Amino acid sequence: MFHILPRILPGLIPLSLISPLAFQCDSSVDPEPVTNWSGTHSTNLRVHYPTTTAEVEGLVAEANKNRKKLRPMGSHLSPNGLSFADPNESVISLSLLDNILKIDISKSTVTCQSGCRVSSVVDALRPHGLTLPQLASIAEQQIGGFISVAAHGTGHKIPTVDDFVDSFTVVTPALGTLTFSRSDVGMNKRMFDLILVGLGLFGVITEVTISCITAHNLLEHTFTLTREAAVQRLPQLLATHKYVRYMWIPYTDTVVVVTNDPFDASASTLPTKMQTVPDVRDKLRPFTEMLLAHPGNGLSEEEVAGLGMGEVRDALLALGPLDVAHVKRVNAVEAEFWKHATGYQYKPSDQLLQFDCGGSQWVQENCFKVTDGEDMRFMTKLLVEIEARNIPAPSPIEQRWSAGSRSRMSPAAGAAGDVFSWVGIIMYEGVARERSELYPYSPCIHSRLVIPLFTPVFAGICRRTTARRGQTSRLGSRARTGRCLRS
Ligand SMILES: Cc1cc2nc3c(=O)[nH]c(=O)nc-3n(C[C@H](O)[C@H](O)[C@H](O)COP(=O)(O)OP(=O)(O)OC[C@H]3O[C@@H](n4cnc5c(N)ncnc54)[C@H](O)[C@@H]3O)c2cc1C
Repeated sequence: MFHILPRILPGLIPLSLISPLAFQCDSSVDPEPVTNWSGTHSTNLRVHYPTTTAEVEGLVAEANKNRKKLRPMGSHLSPNGLSFADPNESVISLSLLDNILKIDISKSTVTCQSGCRVSSVVDALRPHGLTLPQLASIAEQQIGGFISVAAHGTGHKIPTVDDFVDSFTVVTPALGTLTFSRSDVGMNKRMFDLILVGLGLFGVITEVTISCITAHNLLEHTFTLTREAAVQRLPQLLATHKYVRYMWIPYTDTVVVVTNDPFDASASTLPTKMQTVPDVRDKLRPFTEMLLAHPGNGLSEEEVAGLGMGEVRDALLALGPLDVAHVKRVNAVEAEFWKHATGYQYKPSDQLLQFDCGGSQWVQENCFKVTDGEDMRFMTKLLVEIEARNIPAPSPIEQRWSAGSRSRMSPAAGAAGDVFSWVGIIMYEGVARERSELYPYSPCIHSRLVIPLFTPVFAGICRRTTARRGQTSRLGSRARTGRCLRS
């Protein structure tokens, strides 16, 4: 919810005029039910859908005049329902402000309205041989939400996505429409660095210019290591690969490693062990057999055959999410699956940087600055605590890395040479579509499960291993309702 920006800027920043007649804010807009991606947060909101920047300015000016709260809302994917307001309050959806305004090939930049989805921007860039420099595991965010939360992927030399923004325009309640650029100096530069990752606090971002990179293919390598080898080999893996991601499987000695590197198959020979979809399906058999053999399974053989890896896991976990022995068995089968599903994939970067992150889920994600092997100490202690307390922790615990971002509000705020680690503990809720049939626990039970069980574990480890600045925890849920992004 944005508040009135302190009046420290006039004189330093040219303000554009707001026309109070440009848009009559309809305070009689009826509340409509809005649910986040996961289906775990829903409320009734008065959603305004402006179609022009002038309408955004009118809405913001009117809300400011009447001292009403107005929150910017993107695709409302946010794990914790971040873009929601109190029941029956107003939000401003940017979904109809979704035009790509300019692709400047000479400067390798794209300028778009903030309601553009990340996937649409990537699609629009493709014919020009350009792409976004970083992606999260899903690409359905709006550009406004994507940068306002400092979304991250992995790559210890790649900052959070906000760091690639060259300029942006924000409609503020007290100061009207402001445009900030990375080349600004003095107070404007400080405002640029502050407002960019603003969670909607400072106003509505309407337009963004982002630096792009040349579109390229990646060679992805998936393999497994023991925990000890994962700890020992991390420095070498980070030094030799552009993107590295670990997926730790609790109660097993298996860590799934996924690396990605730019590769040109026209100039170099592809490895022989390329993954194929039928091959992966075959490797899934122990998983599907376990599901079909379970007395609680209500899915037919045909239905199970159509499920991707994340969906089979969801369905299995939903049959006993708090049954530690069951979760351990599912994790063990998953570890075996990955040991046999190792190999390479070669695809455009935008396809490989997204990955199947399972179904409806609660995630507790921590970001902390890495010095002296702290990322591996953190994980080792986390797993020891989870296993000592016999917590029904499913696979995977995701670990990714990023460089520091110049944005002051990014969880990874820091210098370009800093390395941050992002650790996401995930609790699956089962396939959202069938949750009511498959899953006997409500989201509240999940939230009770996650918060009391994991938070002390996480918090304790954080205090002991990372008692320093730059550490942020995000607790929330995320889910996908469709098929796997990559299966
Ligand atoms: C399945 C899944 C996988 C995910 N994977 C990743 C991942 O790998 N890495 C990662 O970093 N994140 C990940 N996320 C989280 C996701 O990137 C964030 O939740 C992001 O905010 C979603 O964008 P949105 O458009 O839905 O924003 P919303 O959820 O609608 O809003 C998020 C915040 O941004 C503000 N906001 C939105 N638009 C504007 C605007 N125009 N101006 C000002 N403020 C605005 C809102 O007020 C709110 O505070 C994942 C989420 C899901 C569901």
